[in-house]
Amino acid sequence: MTELAYLADMDAAYTRQFVAKVVALPPGGVVLDRTFFYPAGGGQQADHGVLTPRSGPPYTVVDVTKSGPNAIHRVRRPTTPAGPALQSGDMVEGSLDWDRRHRHMRLHTGQHLLSALIFERTGVRTREANMFGSGGTVDLERPLPADIRPEALATEANAILAEGRRVSIRYLSREAWENSPTPRSGLVALPRHVDPVRIVEIEGLDACPCGGTHVRSTREVGEIALDAPVPLALGAVRVPFRLLEASPPTRPG
Ligand SMILES: [Zn+2]
Repeated sequence: MTELAYLADMDAAYTRQFVAKVVALPPGGVVLDRTFFYPAGGGQQADHGVLTPRSGPPYTVVDVTKSGPNAIHRVRRPTTPAGPALQSGDMVEGSLDWDRRHRHMRLHTGQHLLSALIFERTGVRTREANMFGSGGTVDLERPLPADIRPEALATEANAILAEGRRVSIRYLSREAWENSPTPRSGLVALPRHVDPVRIVEIEGLDACPCGGTHVRSTREVGEIALDAPVPLALGAVRVPFRLLEASPPTRPG
């Protein structure tokens, strides 16, 4: 079983380097006792990086996937110079491709804000969201009302982002979450076994269950732009968004 160590609290999502023990070696993969690498899921892409054994060159992590209770780091084995093959019980140092991960954290936080803002202004909820590269998509249950222009939404979103609202994590029992009057901007059903529920909150705007990684302050997202919505099947609509700045205005600590 892999402890998903990035989940614990907001600071854990900023851990870029860690030491962990190899517990299994499925073909092409490495399972650790704990990891700060995010396995693909919930619309957020997997982290990349390296796993470096105590002796020998690093293994490149090209993908991370969840498999039951384990996170499998898909690796490319170093060829030159060839090191001793990894063994179960070995300690490795994990190091994340931070530019990639931090972009995902900014995108994911921006997406929460966008979904919450759209819901607050229009009552339209998000069915699904996906993030990749420096952009993402929010799939809405139905089109935006005709008087809501994407540019106006972007302007409003950017004003809130610039306020530097606090983003935080808390855990609630399943029962407490089910009974809470918090408005639901998302339509993604929680799997039955999830208890407690990890709630990601943007101060004064949104609270929603999520297992992804996010930035501490909305200011760290930087500015976003919205592109023209694209119609999907069954009356749904896809709203593309992207980060305007390659790097955020304030570097993470
Ligand atoms: Zn999230």
